[in-house]
Amino acid sequence: MGRAFVYVILGGGVAAGYAALEFTRKGVSPGELCIISEEPVAPYERPALSKGFLLPESPARLPSFHTCVGANEERLTPKWYKEHGIELVLGTRVKSVDVRRKKLLTATGETISYKILLIATGARALKLEEFGVDGSEAICYLRDLADANGLVNVMQSCSSGNAVVIGGGYIGMECAASLAINKINVTLVFPEVHCMARLFTPKIASYYEEYYQSKGVKFVKGTVLTSFELILVKEVMAVNLRDGSQLPADLVVVGTGIRPNTSLFEGQLTLEKGGIKVNGKMQTSNDSVYAVGDVAAFPVKLFGETRRLEHVDSARKSAKHAVAAIMEPKKSGEFDYLPFFYSRVFGLSWQFYGDNVGEAVHFGDYSSGTFGAYWISKGHLVGSFLEGGTKEEYEAIAKATSLKPPVEDLAELGQQGLNFALTI
Ligand code: FAD
Repeated sequence: MGRAFVYVILGGGVAAGYAALEFTRKGVSPGELCIISEEPVAPYERPALSKGFLLPESPARLPSFHTCVGANEERLTPKWYKEHGIELVLGTRVKSVDVRRKKLLTATGETISYKILLIATGARALKLEEFGVDGSEAICYLRDLADANGLVNVMQSCSSGNAVVIGGGYIGMECAASLAINKINVTLVFPEVHCMARLFTPKIASYYEEYYQSKGVKFVKGTVLTSFELILVKEVMAVNLRDGSQLPADLVVVGTGIRPNTSLFEGQLTLEKGGIKVNGKMQTSNDSVYAVGDVAAFPVKLFGETRRLEHVDSARKSAKHAVAAIMEPKKSGEFDYLPFFYSRVFGLSWQFYGDNVGEAVHFGDYSSGTFGAYWISKGHLVGSFLEGGTKEEYEAIAKATSLKPPVEDLAELGQQGLNFALTI
């Protein structure tokens, strides 16, 4: 039994949705394109899961955040796919791929063949067991809609209770904020000396930590979770930390990083940086196979090296670029991408562009709520961070970062602050 398509998108997340929209814009014909996804719903904006989805009042629910609303594009509901003759094969895991024979095998036993395959399998949340901690079904992760529904259910059953959030990255930070908004007592635990250690400087981190503390969130830094104490099978009561302390926990959320879903392609495609290596057209080591989003390691021109990015903007834009390369190979150039990511918690909102290497120069008034930092490497601006900016200010730091202007005097740059970007 088998079906054949010209184009198959493997994975039904953010990149898949944006790719589908671009395929229709580039003139794909009805019946030519198929999306296969393990998730039971059409592609949606994953970042909503740790933000609007967890709000106590008027929470975001599908269909409101199907792609591609996150970039102010059309909202692609299942009806849209039907109207465009795009086959959505949902709730179906692909269990093997033969790139030489251009065939996929699904867990339901169906063989689907393609002429061009677009891999958009994203990533999975790292589980505590992978760090040597015995797991428990009472622990929540947050990667997909099923996880988010599970978290909402636990959250509702322990109102005013205690939550321990493990991990000080953006999932941990956003979850902690949402739980606090739901009036749950939150303790955020992570091994680093401050939150968002991969991006924030100590000065930036201390602003957010103080803000969180003002909302009742507690921080336990420099330690990790080692085990659980259970009162009933599958019910968490307390967590034990490596530093010997114990925290009460009606709810545990773990956000300790992700691993790209590459396993179907190991031994078949070239891998790099933990992902599937692609060229500037998002094409893998096999001419008929492209990769986009969290799973793709692509050349970032601005840095002169291959990177794998785990952010929604990169998923959207790499998907669009790959489809243009597939449909109009002669017209499309190399992907020229300025890394960008953002987060929104409580009433705060920040954006970051470029790379956080070299020396950080802080600017702005940290007590006013509008402040930021530039990163200078080898005499050039390579990265910019801004909290509380206007649309124009965010656009200005993005533009300045993409131009990589020379910077000689760091003290003067700090004094100029946002004006440096606004007048470039
Ligand atoms: P995904 O969106 O993860 O989609 C992958 C899809 O592939 C899934 O549907 C999965 O089920 C499917 N799949 C995988 N393997 C198979 C298989 N074998 N068979 C069938 N289907 C398969 N980024 C930001 O920049 N800012 C944010 O504020 C932000 N917030 C986030 C909040 C949360 C809770 C999460 C989880 C992520 C957030 N991100 C954020 C990151 C962003 O969502 C990801 O970068 C983006 O979703 C990547 O898109 P993708 O299509 O590559 O992968």
